[in-house]
Amino acid sequence: MRVVKTIDEVRKQVREWRAQGLTVGLVPTMGYLHEGHASLIDASHKDNDRTVVSDFVNPMQFGPTEDLESYPRDIDRDAQLVEEHGGDLIFNPEPSEMYHEGFSSFVDMTVLTQELCGLSRPVHFRGVCTVVSKLFNIVKPDRAYFGKKDAQQLAVIRHMVDDLNMDIEIIGCPIIREADGLAKSSRNTYLNPDERKAALVLSRSIALGKDMVKNGEKSCETIIGEMKKLISAEPLARIDYVKIVDCATMQQITKLDRPALCAIAVYIGKTRLIDNFFSEDV
Ligand code: AMP
Repeated sequence: MRVVKTIDEVRKQVREWRAQGLTVGLVPTMGYLHEGHASLIDASHKDNDRTVVSDFVNPMQFGPTEDLESYPRDIDRDAQLVEEHGGDLIFNPEPSEMYHEGFSSFVDMTVLTQELCGLSRPVHFRGVCTVVSKLFNIVKPDRAYFGKKDAQQLAVIRHMVDDLNMDIEIIGCPIIREADGLAKSSRNTYLNPDERKAALVLSRSIALGKDMVKNGEKSCETIIGEMKKLISAEPLARIDYVKIVDCATMQQITKLDRPALCAIAVYIGKTRLIDNFFSEDV
């Protein structure tokens, strides 16, 4: 397992693998890896001969008041996890390697980004689409792996690949959770012990919503209302959004009469956390 910092080194390595007829999977991450990321690496290791993990805190997908500077980083720890899970190469570039002076080309999307995180984080998906396009061009993988934890991101990437005829199979992987239910996230490290307890309102409200759907509730207003009530009872929690959207359009719906995504974003203290469930998975 190697850690490389330059685009040239990645290209050289992938070219060698290609010359041997090997398939390549890509797992894009922002590092500070946990079992959620590990599950993506496992999936890629199973499907492909070689796995590249990108480890890059992408400045372009952070808004001006967001946590770019404080985002946790630990490449040595990440390298150990990637090695343990069968990854072959980590691409860990500096921002200047990805965005040279005068960089001025962007990949943006006019659909799927008007709701949920796209609404709360206006520059986010332009940054995601641009960096993922660049990673796809650098690594040229057969398959790329994304978590359903970032459900809107997964939908946006699938749409981008389709729109721009990128010859890459996109694989969505299930949400990995802590034993008590909290979805694993690099941002969980921001939580102090009281906030860590309070953060359980996210997974509890997701479980409540799922139960309501399982029991036949069709009214989105009723489901959202109960989930909001549960979250609002926690003094350290502040709701960014609790929404139910059509999976295909990411537009809000009022009745559960088609495949839907129920997604939430909640601030616990200063830390913004997300969670979700798909109606189809209930
Ligand atoms: P990040 O490093 O947070 O940008 O995440 C990199 C990839 O890992 C994204 O595709 C995420 O959806 C995925 N991921 C993050 N947390 C989890 C989790 N708890 N379960 C499954 N996938 C995850």
